[in-house]
This record gives sequence, structure tokens and C-alpha cells, in this order.
Amino acid sequence: MALFTFPPSAAQLNWRWPHFTPIELACACRKHCKGEYFHDPRFLDALEAMRAEMGPLKIRSGHRCRGHNAAVGGVPNSYHAKAIAADIAVTGKTRARMLQAAVNAGFTGLGYGRSFLHVDLGPARAWTYPGALGFWIKALAFDPMRQPLKPRPK
Ligand SMILES: [Zn+2]
Ligand SMILES: [Zn+2]
Repeated sequence: MALFTFPPSAAQLNWRWPHFTPIELACACRKHCKGEYFHDPRFLDALEAMRAEMGPLKIRSGHRCRGHNAAVGGVPNSYHAKAIAADIAVTGKTRARMLQAAVNAGFTGLGYGRSFLHVDLGPARAWTYPGALGFWIKALAFDPMRQPLKPRPK
């Protein structure tokens, strides 16, 4: 695991995650940094596992430099800033499957947004973004904050 000032080249990292690139997971602020990127093979393995179940994932936000994290209102110890996390776009149709795929892939930090699901490999915890929980309850037919999802047996 390492922090890079610029998105490293795939060759630099022996890149073995065919569906993702350092560039799409690097900080996208273009203001406070030059594309800072935090490399964590475990995170990428989990993302690939999720992708294998779901098909293409749209990454809204990956690693964030401290300046960008503060600018978007992220909490200071956010996994976007101290390591790497991803906000993955969800729709009404994919919401429930996306959550199950994230849990199956081993993601332990889950943030429920209206149009995205936050995933990271930090300590097991879950939170909701304003106005979002109702969408998740509707899609799942239960409250994931009260009843955490379990990984599907393989
Ligand atoms: Zn930045
Ligand atoms: Zn996030």
C-alpha cells in the first residue's frame, strides 16, 4: 500500500485489475493535487470481485487528497482521504444487487447515498447520506442500518 503524488503507470504497479485504472481511482480535484492516488491491492481485488458480479461499475469518486476531501465536505478521517474508497453509482434497478455484490466482495465500510454506494475496507460500519435511507429501504424491503446484509454463501 502506498501513496503516489501522481497516478502511477500500470507497469509501475504490476497492474492486474483489468477493469480499473489508477487514473479513474486517483483524486480528481485538479486543484489541490496532481492526481494523488493510494494503491491498495486488497481494495482493487474487492472492486474486481464486485465488478465480476455486477458488470461495469461507474466510479464517482475514488481516492481524495486532503484538500479535495475537505472541499467536498468529507469527514477528515474519510477512507477516501486516508487510504482509498469508492463511491459507486447506483440506480433504482441496481441498488439492491450492488449492495449485495459489495458485501460479497468483502467491503466493510458502507455508506448509503441516494445515487451512489460508498465502499471501503475500513472497520465494519455503515452510515446514510441525507435523504437516502428511504430509497435503500424501498429497494431492499428492509432497513440495512438495522439489519446488515450478510455475504452470500459461495
Ligand atoms: Zn486532489
Ligand atoms: Zn465515499
